[in-house]
Amino acid sequence: MGIGDELLCPMCGEPIVPGAPVIFADRQPCHLRCVLDSQRHVDAVRAFLQKTPGEVCDACVATALGIDAEAASKAIYRLRSDPAFTVEAASTCAACGERRPTMRRRAT
Ligand SMILES: [Zn+2]
Ligand SMILES: [Zn+2]
Repeated sequence: MGIGDELLCPMCGEPIVPGAPVIFADRQPCHLRCVLDSQRHVDAVRAFLQKTPGEVCDACVATALGIDAEAASKAIYRLRSDPAFTVEAASTCAACGERRPTMRRRAT
């Protein structure tokens, strides 16, 4: 196996070099930059869903925001616990028409 015990950032999978800015998330050290990026993605996805009346899938959120699909699904995953949004395990995406897991803002 490898030499030493290199720490990997769970968010990007890259090694954390000693001295790099780090922040703890879920008790694991992550790059500060990765945490800030993911927070930005969560904010962007939240804003997008708030102004979107229908339900949309991860892929369409990613396309609409110009972020990669993995970043979008991570952000969506974090928004699952947000009471402002509803997750459907299999529904029809309003944007692409595919039957997929979708998310939409909760009707008020
Ligand atoms: Zn990272
Ligand atoms: Zn879609």
